[in-house]
Amino acid sequence: MSPHLVVIGTGYAGLLAALRAARIARGRLTVTLVGASDQLVERVRLHEQAASGRSVAHPIAALLAGTAVRFVHARALEVAPGRLVTDAGVIQFDRAIVCTGGSVDLDLVPGAREHAFAIDGDRMARLFGEARRIAECGGRLAVCGGGLTGVEIATELAEAVPGLRVELVSASEIVPALSHKAREHARAALRRLGVTVREGVRVTAVAADHLDTAAGPIAFDLCAWAAGFRAMPLLAGLGLPMAADGRVIVDSHLYARPDLLVAGDAAAFATPGGWLAAGCKTAMPMAAHAADTAVAEMTGGQMDAFSFGDPGYCVSLGRRDGIVQFVDAAGQPRERILKGRVAAWIKERVCRYTVFALRAEQRRLMAYRWQHGAVRPLVAVEAVR
Ligand SMILES: Cc1cc2nc3c(=O)[nH]c(=O)nc-3n(C[C@H](O)[C@H](O)[C@H](O)COP(=O)(O)OP(=O)(O)OC[C@H]3O[C@@H](n4cnc5c(N)ncnc54)[C@H](O)[C@@H]3O)c2cc1C
Repeated sequence: MSPHLVVIGTGYAGLLAALRAARIARGRLTVTLVGASDQLVERVRLHEQAASGRSVAHPIAALLAGTAVRFVHARALEVAPGRLVTDAGVIQFDRAIVCTGGSVDLDLVPGAREHAFAIDGDRMARLFGEARRIAECGGRLAVCGGGLTGVEIATELAEAVPGLRVELVSASEIVPALSHKAREHARAALRRLGVTVREGVRVTAVAADHLDTAAGPIAFDLCAWAAGFRAMPLLAGLGLPMAADGRVIVDSHLYARPDLLVAGDAAAFATPGGWLAAGCKTAMPMAAHAADTAVAEMTGGQMDAFSFGDPGYCVSLGRRDGIVQFVDAAGQPRERILKGRVAAWIKERVCRYTVFALRAEQRRLMAYRWQHGAVRPLVAVEAVR
């Protein structure tokens, strides 16, 4: 029987890892994809779903059609050495790639879990309906979190839902990862769309109808939570070293344990500048590298360490505006940006490319490629194997 590679998670990282491993293994391995969901949710478009109601999910069956990847629709409960326990039974494996992702942190402050919509998964269709309902009588939407996700959701909904009063609340200045020029453009776009922006205001709790903040209460009819990040709980059960946000620490080849690689938002990859940021732009390269590494190792080959060159940031500000932020070799923002319709157009192409890349791997048209660069791991985490 051929060696068995199991990939856990049906997000961008899990699908890419499974499709790529099956393509390059050419029948020398059995590849199984295990997912709690039988859909790929295009998370980079969740704010679009909240504003339009249009589904951003694709059936896994269609994305795996014609490939040798076997799909098991099950939630992983425990990853013991060589043995995956799921709610649909036990699966033995030789190597596994864990790609279970993460989400906004609903436990960051009391009440967020009970009273706020997470910018996540399948709740966007409900947020779409609720936002329209409250807009009919001039209702207020509070968006908590001034990072890229918070700004994207605030601008998208303010543009798409007439009558909705949107307030963006951020503990720090908005979009801190971007340059001053980019931040000023984001502020101008938010102003143009009528969004009230409160920077430097930390939310301490979420109640049913208001936020508690150091600057006093902020009333809302609807609250969207876009702050913080937490990796999925499965990872805590592995008993492996983790970063503070619950991501599992991996070595330079993305191994967390001799039988286990971790990729995407689930993985903490140390660089001299800190952990590599979670994001689709890091998740897909990690997944491709993890697949290459696992197949090489299981079929007697060798792989180099993971390397990644930051391509920069693409941010949407509604459907007609955006920001493309260029970065230097260390991933730090340059002052150079693109904005307006050109940036919105580029952002749309980048989003399309994610699913196109999966289909290209599926149909063997093209191998997913990414920008390599100077990001190298710290020596301190080189002890896994
Ligand atoms: C609104 C929004 C906009 C974004 N825009 C950008 C952007 O412009 N650029 C960018 O780089 N990033 C962006 N991101 C971040 C990006 O979406 C994530 O980094 C990316 O989805 C990570 O991919 P992943 O495959 O690691 O995890 P995910 O996409 O989260 O997939 C994880 C998968 O694992 C499954 N899973 C979890 N637990 C289990 C379990 N126990 N058993 C089985 N399956 C399990 C889940 O069901 C899911 O299918 C955005 C995110 C949001 C929310």
